[in-house]
Amino acid sequence: MEAAVRELTVELGERAYPIWIGSGLLSRTGELFAERGFPEKSPVLLVTDAAVAHLYAETVETSLRASGYEVQRAVVTVGEASKSLSVFDGLIEAALEAGLDRKSTVIALGGGVVGDLAGFVAATYMRGVRFVQMPTTILAHDSSVGGKVAVNHRLAKNIIGAFHQPEFVLYDLDTLLTLPPREVRAGLSEVIKHGLIWNADFVRWFDEHAERLLGLDPEALGYALYEGCKVKSIVVSQDERENDLRAILNLGHTIGHALEAVAGYGELLHGEAIAIGMAGAARLAVRFGYDPAIAAETERIFRKFGLPVRIPADINPDAVMKAMMHDKKFKEGQMVFIVPTSIGSVEIRQDVPSDWVREIVEQLRE
Ligand code: NAD
Ligand code: MG
Repeated sequence: MEAAVRELTVELGERAYPIWIGSGLLSRTGELFAERGFPEKSPVLLVTDAAVAHLYAETVETSLRASGYEVQRAVVTVGEASKSLSVFDGLIEAALEAGLDRKSTVIALGGGVVGDLAGFVAATYMRGVRFVQMPTTILAHDSSVGGKVAVNHRLAKNIIGAFHQPEFVLYDLDTLLTLPPREVRAGLSEVIKHGLIWNADFVRWFDEHAERLLGLDPEALGYALYEGCKVKSIVVSQDERENDLRAILNLGHTIGHALEAVAGYGELLHGEAIAIGMAGAARLAVRFGYDPAIAAETERIFRKFGLPVRIPADINPDAVMKAMMHDKKFKEGQMVFIVPTSIGSVEIRQDVPSDWVREIVEQLRE
């Protein structure tokens, strides 16, 4: 079944941009470039990873060439390690070799790794060129919207970056059919997060449609990604540079990032780590006196989607606490946490005692 094409706008004044979500969209790339006045004389650089390249790059290139655009492909190794200054350097070289000029476009075709990396190239090459996001993972509904782009330093993740909004986001649901099941579940974890911070009705819908979502039903998935991207765009358009509101997108991320760091990147997928983190944040809500059902409901939903809600037994709680202290969300003996106040709403707490967190980390161990 083909899914209807859904459209959203990220409202950012002069830099506002559309998100299209639907089936068969990659083959319309050239047409969209022409419609939006992307200059034909300026070459395009298509950045992708080795897994996505052989599946989807040709469709995009064929479409661009049919509309008169010249396009060069740059393929990076699969995985987080590609978000590095050395891979970035290689891409700048590829851009120069392809003759990219100020009016050129960099396309990110892939998951969040490619999106963040190619976006940083687009933000910096000649002080910034056009950028287009073509997410091919569920998780990338999050990374493709909002304009945060970055590479990692060996001492810290996402520490070298910029804000660089895309011209548009083209989300072809057909690409999601080749995702490994574990990546599907981990991606859905960030989609649920968008419901948990903003929209109780969406959480209910999500919960009722677990089977269709896990089975990658295009209509259900299209709707879920639309709702997820909608929450992200509303939040980003109110607070593009994370002065206040945007922080709510970090629900589950304080504990989640610490778990990723301690487990070793790649052991726990990001979506898995934040599922555990959201279970922890929900317990914190109960500690603050909110309805205990928040914690039970949160865990039930994540379990239904096959996501973890317990810290693996081999992870040392001291190490988790230490990793959290290093996090940028830690200020003077108090920890900053996004805490649910009910299913579908959260508050930012600057006053979380670290011994409460410690207690919850212990409770969450398998
Ligand atoms: P990823 O890009 O590594 O993709 C996950 C895996 O799926 C890779 O092995 C990839 O090759 C494969 N893959 C991608 N598309 C596929 C497809 N259609 N079919 C088959 N395989 C496919 O990881 P991710 O989970 O998409 O993104 C994680 C990254 O996103 C992290 O680096 C994180 O920091 C970043 N991120 C950024 C933001 C932001 O706001 N910029 C937000 C969230 C996450
Ligand atoms: Mg995240």
